[in-house]
Amino acid sequence: MMNEELTAIHTRQIKAEALRLGFSACGVSPATAVDSLHGDAFRQWLEEGHQAGMDYMARHMEKRLDPRLLVDGAQSIVSVALNYYPALPPDDGGYRLAWYAYGEDYHTVMKDKLHALLHYVATLLPGVSGRAFCDTAPLLERYWAWRGGLGWTGRNTQLIIPGAGSAFFLGELVIDRPLAYDTPQRDRCGNCTRCLRACPTGALHAPHRLDARRCLSYLTIEHRGPIPPEAAAHLSPCIYGCDRCQEACPWNRFARPAGEPRLHPRPALLAMRRPDWEKLSPEDYRTLFKGSAVKRAKYEGLTRNIRCCSTDTGKESS
Ligand code: SF4
Ligand code: SF4
Repeated sequence: MMNEELTAIHTRQIKAEALRLGFSACGVSPATAVDSLHGDAFRQWLEEGHQAGMDYMARHMEKRLDPRLLVDGAQSIVSVALNYYPALPPDDGGYRLAWYAYGEDYHTVMKDKLHALLHYVATLLPGVSGRAFCDTAPLLERYWAWRGGLGWTGRNTQLIIPGAGSAFFLGELVIDRPLAYDTPQRDRCGNCTRCLRACPTGALHAPHRLDARRCLSYLTIEHRGPIPPEAAAHLSPCIYGCDRCQEACPWNRFARPAGEPRLHPRPALLAMRRPDWEKLSPEDYRTLFKGSAVKRAKYEGLTRNIRCCSTDTGKESS
């Protein structure tokens, strides 16, 4: 059998295993430098200070723009997407979290699945060397998902999978073997600008341009210290994250609840009512969010957000 045919068979087998492991999509791209259009856009984003306090985004630039510096001899990037869209009860006027935050910490879930996929690749391609990543390395994940044909980057800066929406965690295997590569998808946003109009703070100030300094997702999760009053006034009812630019996207009409049980909303979270949140103790917080990504905001951050929402004026933002 020709090498090319065998490579195509191996690629199909890896994709089939990814789906068997519960990933919703899998695509493959050659490990090369990031193209100049996307590399320059990323540099400009940093120069304009739109990463806010996420200084780590500016670190390891060479690696971020060339994954071959992350993994010796890297030849291929296998990109995967895992659905996190939560099945939530009808809105009862209570507080909400970002869609992705109702279940177990995605880093753990993704890591387990990615390592299982890497193990499979090693049985298929003996001697292969590679690494698994999910939000854990300087890698432009959405760019590689696009290059691998999973979807396109919408005007809201999210990776959109046609017929499925944007509620997906992204992860990658970077391996030192060639595979059969996918073709990037075309942009299907058309004339739509719903996400831009839905953004309450102007953080999404132009198509594909997100200023984290004004983004409620950044301010409620990553940011330490007071939330600026002009942003705090728009938090409620979301006490962790935002998602309005995803909720507005017509492609998310296709979103279906996540199949992965570890990502299902925790019943204890769904049982929380506004008064429960407003008197959340450090112990409640530890119990509710054990093994959850919400730990990122810390108790002080989450209760700061709740105070902003409960006053609903943005004045009490510290
Ligand atoms: S997450 Fe919210 S604040 Fe941030 S860009 Fe989207 S709509 Fe705007
Ligand atoms: S809301 Fe419209 S413009 Fe924004 S990402 Fe979705 S399809 Fe694209």
